[in-house]
Amino acid sequence: MKRNIKSFTLDELKDEMISIGEKPFRAEQIFKWIHQENVLSFDEMTNISKELREKLKEKYSINNFKIIKKLTSVDGTKKYLFDVLDGNAIESVLMEYKHGFSICVSSQIGCKMGCKFCASTGIPFVRSLEAGEIVEQILAVQREEDVKISNIVFMGIGEPLDNYDNVIKAISIINNPKGLNIGTRHISISTSGLVPNIYKLAKENIQCTLSVSLHSSNNEKRSEMMPVNDAYPIEKLMEACREYIKITNKRISFEYALAKDNNDNLDDAKDLVKLLKGMLCHVNLIPINKIDNGKYVKSTNDNIIKFRDYLNDNGIVATIRRELGADISAACGQLRRTELKKE
Ligand code: SAH
Repeated sequence: MKRNIKSFTLDELKDEMISIGEKPFRAEQIFKWIHQENVLSFDEMTNISKELREKLKEKYSINNFKIIKKLTSVDGTKKYLFDVLDGNAIESVLMEYKHGFSICVSSQIGCKMGCKFCASTGIPFVRSLEAGEIVEQILAVQREEDVKISNIVFMGIGEPLDNYDNVIKAISIINNPKGLNIGTRHISISTSGLVPNIYKLAKENIQCTLSVSLHSSNNEKRSEMMPVNDAYPIEKLMEACREYIKITNKRISFEYALAKDNNDNLDDAKDLVKLLKGMLCHVNLIPINKIDNGKYVKSTNDNIIKFRDYLNDNGIVATIRRELGADISAACGQLRRTELKKE
């Protein structure tokens, strides 16, 4: 099978060129055509000879996703359903903020984590995305909208730390100045708490923001919401987070989805303060979004504000995440994979 040219880092592409008897500078030319010019075919690479273009076509593919469906929210957020060319479809979301465009990308087709409040997990897991398929979500949206994306959040379908190597590789491709040139400071990775890979990420020496889905500071409650807590309970998770902060000197963003009568009362807020006291961190409160057959219901606005104020008054910086795209099921936890019907 032909290899997807979008999945190579620039260094790997240089090695590839050498291995097929070409000069390494060709890699730079191709990389720029793909990631900066966003071309759809080798034939558009006009500074490359026809001969070499034919050779490239034989060896590699340029996988361009097809947009099957695009929905636009009243708040301007856009959701895309992409055909990933193997009979499956994934979703990505484009959001516009004052500071620019931000994209929420998927890292897997489906998710193994089983969080009870998330729509990405209800349907069977298919596979992890290749690095090039992660990058392609950005390229495809830039082609469609003619915009320059400046921020990336790994908060779409899938657990990014369960597709560790491809996510790290995608970040290296996205970050390259000869490519999309998006600084790692503008990239966030959200994890449900895969402890061993939090330690691994700490040593990568990249400036990404790490978000950790906490949702409760009580093991029993967290396990009920997130089965991953049975494997990596809160104490182990916090140990890893502390070590991450120590090594990277970066603050962690803890995500906390507030569900009515579940994890949103003042006692929960008190426990959270106890757990996070003294840590270099920030709490991102997410009013929980309703999903089909989900048992959790959004907290009242009153409770959300009280919860935030309690944290802030007790030394924990907390903000409420803006709810974008809920009317088109593009908000946190509402993305899902789709199996395409065979013709
Ligand atoms: N797998 C990663 C990315 C998930 S999406 C992770 O678990 O962190 C980003 C955030 O949205 C996570 O914190 C996730 O727990 C949260 N989320 C999932 N479903 C949600 C829902 N229905 N309402 C609000 N937040 C939700």
